[in-house]
Amino acid sequence: MLFDKFQSMADFQASLAEQEVAPFGAVTEEILSASEGVVQGRKVILAGTNNYLGLSYDPRCIKAAQDAAQRWGTGTTGSRLANGSFAEHQALEEEIAEFYGVNHAIVFSTGYAATMGMCSTLAGPGDVILMDGDSHASIYAGVKLSGAEVIRFKHSDPEDLAKRMRRLGDRAAGQALIIAEGIYSMLGDVAPLQEIAAVKREYGGYLLVDEAHSMGVLGDSGRGAAQAAGVEADVDFSVGTFSKSLGAIGGFCVSPHAELEAIRFCITAYIFTASSSPSVIASTRESLRIISQEPQLRKKLWDNANRLYNGLKSLGLPVGPTASPVVAVAMDDRSATIDCWKALMDAGVYVNLVVPPASPSTNFLLRNSVSAAHSREQIDTIIAAYSGLKDAGLINPSQAA
Ligand code: PMP
Repeated sequence: MLFDKFQSMADFQASLAEQEVAPFGAVTEEILSASEGVVQGRKVILAGTNNYLGLSYDPRCIKAAQDAAQRWGTGTTGSRLANGSFAEHQALEEEIAEFYGVNHAIVFSTGYAATMGMCSTLAGPGDVILMDGDSHASIYAGVKLSGAEVIRFKHSDPEDLAKRMRRLGDRAAGQALIIAEGIYSMLGDVAPLQEIAAVKREYGGYLLVDEAHSMGVLGDSGRGAAQAAGVEADVDFSVGTFSKSLGAIGGFCVSPHAELEAIRFCITAYIFTASSSPSVIASTRESLRIISQEPQLRKKLWDNANRLYNGLKSLGLPVGPTASPVVAVAMDDRSATIDCWKALMDAGVYVNLVVPPASPSTNFLLRNSVSAAHSREQIDTIIAAYSGLKDAGLINPSQAA
């Protein structure tokens, strides 16, 4: 039966319905500010949004979107290759290329389309992709479509990557595409890009970095993990999204290679989909301007990230080796994690509940994402909510994964 494979998911959904909780697809009924909303009838601090700089609710970005809707209408109703390239899209491509200090940029309708589109198009039959084993689903989807040979290296393990590059012999130099992320989305760990870039320098090949969670967050001017690691010159393609630190939706690829202009016309995820609405492009342009000119937002984000990380760590919770705007508490029991998620909601804190395969191992995660828009008091409320889980016996550090 076609539907048999969905039975375990249906059972899982039914068990959640019995518990009257909806950790997946929890409906936001109202947005009160960049850091607060009403979710499932409760006023909560939003601590699971990826709105790292709080720009989704910045008055300047909202105004830019309003003006663009007034001027250009609500949608483009067409692909970039047909009627969907407005002056706004072109301007954003120029601005994002300039932001990255390169000459070429493509703007996509989503971050997923950017990553999937680039990974599926850059390498093809006869080429070989070396991807981090904990890559995002959009990378997995892209490499599957590519027709290239796909080799997974151990998560953030440059030695394993080097071993696999060595085995490729002559093919490594011309036909290998290495794919890594900047900050990994579920645990918040940063890729060892200095070491990965050194492997590329030794064996050759091309390097693509998905900066979805690191753009606007890392690097002196917010360009991401490659900038922070000082290896931008080794990166051939940086991809990213407008849906996190830029507070909108959309994606991009930037590159120093002039070939990107030809590649553009080969990416089905770019050709066969409508371009972003002008209002989305306009707010993204404004966000990009703000992150270029207001580094204090990044500083505030990191102050908050360190505060939450240190607070949860001092409660004895397993939070990963270093502070990051993504702070995940790993647990080994599904129903205990759901109970914690619900208790956090009752305490007025919305976080992400993550279950395998979205979490990188067999663990269940309470994933917190920090924003520059959080006040210190809000961060302290989040920490107090976790402390409450401990007091209620819902979370026991020694039993956490
Ligand atoms: N790449 C990575 C690493 C991501 O985490 C995400 C989103 N979670 C995407 C790509 C896709 O971006 P978007 O949601 O903006 O389509």
